[in-house]
Amino acid sequence: MMEISVTFEDGATERFPAGTTAGAALAAYARGSGGDRKAVARAIAARVDGSATAVVDLSRPLVADCRLAPVAPESREGLEVLRHSSAHVMAQAVKRLFPETEITIGPVIENGFYYDFKRPGGFAAEDLPRIEETMRAIVQEDLPVRREEVPKAEAIRRFRALGEHYKVEIIAGIPDESVSLYHQGEFVDLCRGPHVPSTGRIPAFKLTSLAGAYWRGDARNEQLQRIYGTAWASPEDLEAYLRRVEEAKQRDHRRLGQALDLFSLHPIAPGSPFFHPKGAVVYNLLVQFVRGLYARYGYTEVITPLIYKTDLYKTSGHYDLFKDDMFLLTIEEEEYGVKPMNCPGHCHLFASRKHSYRDLPIRFADFSRLHRFEPSGTLAGLVRVRSMAQDDAHIYCTPEQLDGELEQFIAMTREVYSAFGFDRIDVTLQTRPEKFLGRVELWDAAEDALRRALEQAGFTVTPLPGQGAFYGPKIGFDFRDVLERSWTLATVQIDCAMPERFGLTYVTAEGTEATPVMLHRAVLGSLERFIAILLEHTAGRLPLWLAPVQVRVLPVSEKAAAYATRVGEACRAAGLRAEADLRNEKLGYKVREAELEKVPVVAVVGEREAVAGTVAPRAGGAPQPMALDVFVAHTAAQARMPGGVP
Ligand SMILES: [Zn+2]
Ligand SMILES: [Zn+2]
Repeated sequence: MMEISVTFEDGATERFPAGTTAGAALAAYARGSGGDRKAVARAIAARVDGSATAVVDLSRPLVADCRLAPVAPESREGLEVLRHSSAHVMAQAVKRLFPETEITIGPVIENGFYYDFKRPGGFAAEDLPRIEETMRAIVQEDLPVRREEVPKAEAIRRFRALGEHYKVEIIAGIPDESVSLYHQGEFVDLCRGPHVPSTGRIPAFKLTSLAGAYWRGDARNEQLQRIYGTAWASPEDLEAYLRRVEEAKQRDHRRLGQALDLFSLHPIAPGSPFFHPKGAVVYNLLVQFVRGLYARYGYTEVITPLIYKTDLYKTSGHYDLFKDDMFLLTIEEEEYGVKPMNCPGHCHLFASRKHSYRDLPIRFADFSRLHRFEPSGTLAGLVRVRSMAQDDAHIYCTPEQLDGELEQFIAMTREVYSAFGFDRIDVTLQTRPEKFLGRVELWDAAEDALRRALEQAGFTVTPLPGQGAFYGPKIGFDFRDVLERSWTLATVQIDCAMPERFGLTYVTAEGTEATPVMLHRAVLGSLERFIAILLEHTAGRLPLWLAPVQVRVLPVSEKAAAYATRVGEACRAAGLRAEADLRNEKLGYKVREAELEKVPVVAVVGEREAVAGTVAPRAGGAPQPMALDVFVAHTAAQARMPGGVP
């Protein structure tokens, strides 16, 4: 009999008859020479490294020399297997409960799985608990999962007999001669696998939601019903995941935006937020904060048009590569476009005057509103919008000034991030994409300059090859929030195309003409998106300097109303956003409301405070009474905008 040699994780090699299953080889090794027995017992699949690496069923026969390792349920590969097997168990449960349902596809997704079904009349939310219950029964039955290879024609015949027309269509489209089927109990599915050895090996799952879907994801095809679920290696992991989801829901900026009365969105202007008075306070303070930094870092602000003839975008290159994302209109028989970015306008502005090397660097900052077309299906709160503004600026400098400009930008980014307490940062370097403008030499030099700047600043860099913008390579500073999500905020790009396309020049010290280096940069990025991220990261507890209402004064009774008014006025006179809540409501109610509105400083005043001229702010612990002027000075100092702005 032919033998194969199998190498285990500890490096030991043993020989087995060809055709021994992965599970049997692992078990034999663990029994004999002391492989990790626990790991083998817990394994739900195996990883085989032969001519290729693959995760396979424990029941898969080994046919050639290979390395072999158990796959633990909680590993990345293990979770994928668990989730795919859970999708099969869900489909089996659906077929048991609703035999008229046709099954289509059921892939694994991040944190879970889904399956798309065709059921006349669809599913109702009440069906999910029933399906879950049947799934639990199937897990209890611990049905062995069996793989079978069958010729394509045979597979088509079987699924046709089962009335599974979608499966027939899928199999007909597979180029291979044979396909693999997976059986568990009465249920069979077309599948590549791998799967758990038996249904009892799924430790924890939950169905999470229902949604509509289209066959093959195409809106012209039949409507299907999608059921989403999640599966984990232990009930504890499932619990922790559900808690994270709940936490994310509580922190959802759309919910907070409503609860804190900051902004709203309406179908009358999809993807274009309305900022309410309190939201506008936050928005304008962010602009003011950045303006303060601009004063120190030598930026000059400009105001440029929103709508240009498309000739401008033809020069910049946006018309060719970005047209589908722009709002275009025809006026007096000429084509115009609403600007998606400030750069073309800034290049036009730069070109409108002669420049000497002595003028450089020129740093044009612009908080202008920008419009980009995003399909309605992709719009999401303030994170994905059609109308936005950025703390955008373009720097024009000599090649000799480039390193210094990058260094200054990194310093400014560090200052902004530390002002918000963003300390978990990953830096990425995004290089030349497939579709690009400009000369390759310029790209190479630009990528080198960015790499150098990051090295000098001491960052560990994650390279993202091919992910730069079409006009230049890019550095991204990704901030990791409390929910472990990563957001790119600050970016800087060196433009390898626009200066030449616009024919930008300056006169050098030698009296010759040269092309300036152009940088695109933003620190907060889109203000809309930044506000969304900050709201979710802080759960709506904005830093004191950004809070729309910083101080709320609550009188204990009507007798203290006059004093509460005086405290509010004293705060406002010191520049604080303060108000006295004089409504005829119970004190407890007002305190709770201030808490829900996340007002950072709440001061309760009664007759005693009125007589003594003190304030006792509630700040976590027991209220500490202090003289009114001390309270005002103390709070005003705490509320000062960071960044050394007066
Ligand atoms: Zn499958
Ligand atoms: Zn730009």
